[in-house]
Amino acid sequence: MFHEVSSQVSFPRLEEQILEFWKANRIFEKSMAQSQGRPQYTFYEGPPTANAPPGIHHVLARVFKDLIPRYRTMKGYNVPRKAGWDTHGLPVELQIEKELGFTTKSQIEEYGVDRFNDRCRESVFRYVKEWERLSDRIGFWLDMAHPYITLSSDYIESVWWILRQLWDRGLLYQDYKVVPYCPRCGTPLSSHEVALGYENATDPSIYVKFPLADEPGVFLLAWTTTPWTLPGNVALAINPTLEYVRVRVGQEVLILAQAALERALHGLAFEVLGPVAPTDLIGRRYQPLYTFVQPDRPAYRVVGATFVAAEEGTGVVHIAPAFGEVDLEVGRQENLPILQPVDPQGRFTAAVTPWAGLFVKDADGEIIADLERRGLLLRSGTIDHTYPFCWRCDTPLLYYARRSWFIRMTQLRENLLKNNEQINWYPEHLKHGRFGNFLENVVDWALSRERYWGTPLPIWQCETCGHQHCIGSVAELQRMARGDTFNALRRGAPSPAGDGQTLDLAHLDLHRPYIDQVILTCPECQGEMRRVPYLIDVWFDSGAMPVAQWHYPFENQETFQRSFPADFICEGVDQTRGWFYTLHAIATALFDQPAFRNVISLGLLLDETGVKMSKSRGNVVDPWTVIEAHGADATRWYFYTAGHPGMEKRFSVGLVGEVVRRFLLTLWNTYAFFVTYARIDRFNPREHTLPARERHVLDRWILARLHETIGQVDSLLDAYDVTTAGRLIEQFVDDLSNWYVRRSRDRFWRSGLSPD
Ligand SMILES: [Zn+2]
Ligand SMILES: [Zn+2]
Repeated sequence: MFHEVSSQVSFPRLEEQILEFWKANRIFEKSMAQSQGRPQYTFYEGPPTANAPPGIHHVLARVFKDLIPRYRTMKGYNVPRKAGWDTHGLPVELQIEKELGFTTKSQIEEYGVDRFNDRCRESVFRYVKEWERLSDRIGFWLDMAHPYITLSSDYIESVWWILRQLWDRGLLYQDYKVVPYCPRCGTPLSSHEVALGYENATDPSIYVKFPLADEPGVFLLAWTTTPWTLPGNVALAINPTLEYVRVRVGQEVLILAQAALERALHGLAFEVLGPVAPTDLIGRRYQPLYTFVQPDRPAYRVVGATFVAAEEGTGVVHIAPAFGEVDLEVGRQENLPILQPVDPQGRFTAAVTPWAGLFVKDADGEIIADLERRGLLLRSGTIDHTYPFCWRCDTPLLYYARRSWFIRMTQLRENLLKNNEQINWYPEHLKHGRFGNFLENVVDWALSRERYWGTPLPIWQCETCGHQHCIGSVAELQRMARGDTFNALRRGAPSPAGDGQTLDLAHLDLHRPYIDQVILTCPECQGEMRRVPYLIDVWFDSGAMPVAQWHYPFENQETFQRSFPADFICEGVDQTRGWFYTLHAIATALFDQPAFRNVISLGLLLDETGVKMSKSRGNVVDPWTVIEAHGADATRWYFYTAGHPGMEKRFSVGLVGEVVRRFLLTLWNTYAFFVTYARIDRFNPREHTLPARERHVLDRWILARLHETIGQVDSLLDAYDVTTAGRLIEQFVDDLSNWYVRRSRDRFWRSGLSPD
């Protein structure tokens, strides 16, 4: 017998009853147990950080992350769904800095790295309950009871093992390079982090005159958008294959590329005096604009460089090796000095007397005024362009020469591209677009971070002979550690004073500051080895999860083999150059395989009017508001069907309400209608059967439609086309309600059970 249904349904209440039933009867656990031994379909959970409550965009990702594994389970697969938590890195540190009111790294050191890291550790689980509650409420089946956690010693040990593999193959190296650098966070960032933070910005655009040393009144004209880099200038580069001219402007003579004349001098009265051969320019000396930092070798001359283009600027490029990748390269080729007038906080050093202590970008205006006053400025304006900002703290990044550790991704470029060919991207254009382009232009991974809370870079260096060693396991650390150096350790690894022989590192907290107190014996000279002071990029942590979630290779070797690569992952489009890239990079470096076979990349959520949702705009929809109003099913259905997953989607409580009216209530009312008559007639589908050919044509039609829809939905979901699958179900419900039920009503109204 069918239970009576009311047409006054509350979907949120109904869902709560079902969730209660699932929980009481452990339905998820049962579905996992039942599917044991079946072919495995592997899903990787991209780990969120639980130091803030989940937002509506997390709901978007989670409902897709639920649907595909749920479908595969229904199709006879075993689909393990291990939860994960990302617990390290700048996002965590920054929040604690805010809470403590800190603005600089020295405040953290004064406060104590141990206490600071304790607070970081505590904060990343602050909202776990909230994440679990929301995940449960939206019906996201995930094994929250056994998550991988990136701060655990097991996880860190696996990450160290990976780094050791790279080290053994010569893929890990240290170099003095210009890296994107956040002056507030005081650390370099990787190219994928930079890719997260491009914003529109207005910067100065100035044409600067460099006076030739031996020809008064003649100037080389260069263009820059970063006046603050001028105190680091050591050379001017021209392209030997371009044509240069001398031009009279007022009383002065300027030298620039002919092709740049219109751009650089538009609106000015000028007279072209004649060509000047690049060979006559190269090697000539000019007077430095600033002499705050004394060069330790000859500088201030014109050099030839083929990268100089005539399409931008003047064809004369100002070279500051401390602040540009190309500049540093030119500096090396030409044996130029590196002048560094900027401190690690992004402020001019004391040597730069007029602007000492000023954040460099804030000094731009004063530098321009100074050049103007000295007659060295031809013109100044502004330029609107995209400029990278720190993805965590929104400070404009500086390009800054630092000693850092890198992974030689450029050496793996061909493999990265080849392995990408084995991945199905949804939407497909990402494969050779946003992702493929990133791989085409891959740069070495700036791995090291000058921070506190994260996976320590496991490289120790000998204080005596300089020998470096990369530790690949805790057991190796134990083997190489000097027993007498642990008394300073305050947590873990308690060592009886004076007795170095019984030292046990198994329970050592592998984070800073404790790990920094572990001193190793140099295998080359028996000297003392200390750890380099760096952490690694937090994106390496999450990219390592295929390996580290199983503590591979120290444990779970079979489980790992069975679970690599993933069949399916899904996150927001911002992860294309984030987690999707780091997964791909690490899997390629370790195993020369892709880490995942199918990936759905979700478009941004916009508000009702089509504006990107953001906290600062105050247009973010709280997930609980919409779930309370319309339920999780309606929200899920909206996300599945409102537009293809890769597209931007508008979202509001009202739009989800339309799903309820248009789809869920139609389905519900159809069901309610059926139940009403089934109850009146005491209909039992098991007893009351009828051979197909004796059935009414409408009955046969709707059953045919049902099976047609099932077949189509299956093949669409096999192809990860969630949206078309959902829309076909909507069409079926429409046929069921508006055609089948409506046309059949008079048959149902007849009293009593009949063949109809
Ligand atoms: Zn920052
Ligand atoms: Zn040594």
